[in-house]
Amino acid sequence: MSRTALWFRSLLLPDGWADGVRLVIADGRIDILTKATAAEAGDETHEIGLPGLPNLHSHAFQRGMAGLTERRGSTADSFWTWREAMYRFVDHMGPEEVEAIAAQAFLEMLESGFTRVGEFHYVHHDPDGAPYADIAELTARVAAAAGETGIALTLLPVFYRHAGFGGLPASPGQRRFVNDIDRYGRLVEASRKAVSSLPCAVVGIAPHSLRAAMPEEIAAILPLADGGPIHIHVAEQTKEVEDCLAWSGQRPVELLLDRLPVDERWCLVHATHVTDAESQGIATRGATVGLCPITEANLGDGLFPAQSFMARGGRFGVGSDSNVLIDAAEELRLLEYGQRLSLRTRNALTRASTPSVGRSLFDAALAGGAQALGAPSTLAVGQPADLVSLKADDTALAHRQHDRWLDGWIFAGGRQTVDCVWRAGAKLVNGGRHFSREAIGKRYRKALHKVLQAS
Ligand code: ZN
Repeated sequence: MSRTALWFRSLLLPDGWADGVRLVIADGRIDILTKATAAEAGDETHEIGLPGLPNLHSHAFQRGMAGLTERRGSTADSFWTWREAMYRFVDHMGPEEVEAIAAQAFLEMLESGFTRVGEFHYVHHDPDGAPYADIAELTARVAAAAGETGIALTLLPVFYRHAGFGGLPASPGQRRFVNDIDRYGRLVEASRKAVSSLPCAVVGIAPHSLRAAMPEEIAAILPLADGGPIHIHVAEQTKEVEDCLAWSGQRPVELLLDRLPVDERWCLVHATHVTDAESQGIATRGATVGLCPITEANLGDGLFPAQSFMARGGRFGVGSDSNVLIDAAEELRLLEYGQRLSLRTRNALTRASTPSVGRSLFDAALAGGAQALGAPSTLAVGQPADLVSLKADDTALAHRQHDRWLDGWIFAGGRQTVDCVWRAGAKLVNGGRHFSREAIGKRYRKALHKVLQAS
């Protein structure tokens, strides 16, 4: 049994900040947790410790297109023209490229303070749209990237069948995504095998959206979740709301709440365009909203009414989604700034008990992300030692303490403020750099060269 001991001058525990905390970690889990104690000989010591954050929504391969779609096209640019560019990129990725790009994305997530990723994985088939000999070939590549980088994985194989509401046939650009219900069942089964060697991996299901999956198809695949998480994109775009209304007479979230058993296992990704009644409905059901502020800003989606949702007791977490920029602190910062800009106020997302915005955002994203990804993320005996330390000598944290460290990291610092990251007790990031940064970066460049040359 491997045992290591870490000591933190201050560590954020489930019941708040504690000083002088010693953790003995055995086989990746916290075995002994002692507060108000001194470091012992041989302990690795750090100043400021936090639990690792869950990243509840990612399409890892999209890291490869980051920054490539920031050019005006011949027509009005929108989410929908971005999506066409994404489909062209997808056309030229093979299994090796999927793995290399995912490894780069996961490495950057770890370096920014995320320790678990919910990978909403929808590219399944070969470039002609035919299944690989192993139907979970690309899923296994994502799992391999998680294994190589050390990030914990909640794998969400995507069910994708149609091009639009009402069961429209999938378009040629979607051929690599599409499965019928039977083949999707085999894919989920094969996905469980693909992650079986990864410690603490979780498998859930992900009907892509109400555009790509009919309500009755979603109902039919629900048993495949087997108690695990259920994620769906919903109400990201106003056009999606209009199309849903035209087809069904209901708005997307309204329809979801009305026709499917949405509960705390569900994560509604984006839910950008919701009415007060829909927002209340999500909060009442206990589902998580998966907010992806950087991507939603990049794609011009709109703003989720987070302040009123939070006041209703709604649960949310954050995701890096398109991975155009990977930074846990910046996701939280932009989430808060969106509310400030739209409501013309300051300090929008706080709880009554916690004046610190940074602490309120962090606690909410930690709890919501853990719920959405079906894996606990609290620092307690018996739980995985998933930890982040901050650079106490970073000027963004100077002369601050406890919750003000979180405010400093989120509002004045960012990714460069992260020092070390441990996942299941293994130190993966040291001084802000992942142990395999050079090798993975090199492979990523090579893979990208191949994809971009072909596209
Ligand atoms: Zn997404």
